[in-house]
Amino acid sequence: MSPYKAELVGGGQQVTFVDKPAPEVLSLLKRWGFRWQAGVRAWFKRGSKGFADMCAGLEKLLGAEKLFPCRMCGLPNGHVHSYAARTLILCTACYRKWCQQQACG
Ligand SMILES: [Zn+2]
Repeated sequence: MSPYKAELVGGGQQVTFVDKPAPEVLSLLKRWGFRWQAGVRAWFKRGSKGFADMCAGLEKLLGAEKLFPCRMCGLPNGHVHSYAARTLILCTACYRKWCQQQACG
């Protein structure tokens, strides 16, 4: 089951998430040229180019999220986070804690 919906809509492609996605998902969407549309609470990009790649990339990223136990608390919902040159596998709560310790917000 995917925690998001990706579809081709009038003039472009749209991605909707059930929960707020992990920061790395958002940065990927931005890198792909998607913009947040507050009115429809979805990410949108004009045109259909790259739609299949985008779906595959999201599937990979979101699927991979579930595979890793958090290295701090051990819960099986750790995400892969990139911070500077480091890769961290932490759940969202632990990542926030870690970020506060590093003063990255
Ligand atoms: Zn954790």
